[in-house]
Amino acid sequence: KSGFVAIIGRPNVGKSTLLNRIVGQKIAIMSDKAQTTRNKIQGVYTTDNSQIVFIDTPGIHKPKHRLGDFMVETAYSALREVDATLFMVSAEQPRGRGDDFIIERLKKSDTPVYLIINKIDTIEPDDLLPIIDDYRAQMDFAEIIPISATEGNNVENLLSILEDKM
Ligand code: GDP
Ligand code: MG
Repeated sequence: KSGFVAIIGRPNVGKSTLLNRIVGQKIAIMSDKAQTTRNKIQGVYTTDNSQIVFIDTPGIHKPKHRLGDFMVETAYSALREVDATLFMVSAEQPRGRGDDFIIERLKKSDTPVYLIINKIDTIEPDDLLPIIDDYRAQMDFAEIIPISATEGNNVENLLSILEDKM
């Protein structure tokens, strides 16, 4: 099994931390999907029977006023080239304009969008449900997966969900 997964989210939510945790190996892959300049390979997760290529789609993170129509369209198109998108938010901060900007773009994605709520180690267990409800009210996510990238909580589960869907 193999697939391409975009990982997006506002700065400092923990994207690099998660990638560092799950990417054992960085290898050069020649692929039509990965060769487009609008997608950057950030890392590859490989096991005996699967390979997940994690991709950054830079246009998605930028605030609207800095993007022309062409670049916005480019960002949408990049999402069509992946098998799934991980939208990462932080449990530590409330949903903000940066998140809402991304959500508006993700609503136009044809491929499944997984909400990754990171930094659950910073909150009380009772505080998780309101956060889930808040994001769930914004759009339909394929799944909502709370994790701690630094502690490793639920990261194995996230990977097995992604593998299953490929
Ligand atoms: P990025 O900008 O989305 O790539 O975020 P980084 O991976 O650089 O992380 C930003 C900061 O958040 C760093 O100081 C990380 O150590 C911290 N961080 C990332 N994941 C977690 C987590 O699960 N729990 C906590 N407490 N801190 C985290
Ligand atoms: Mg980073």
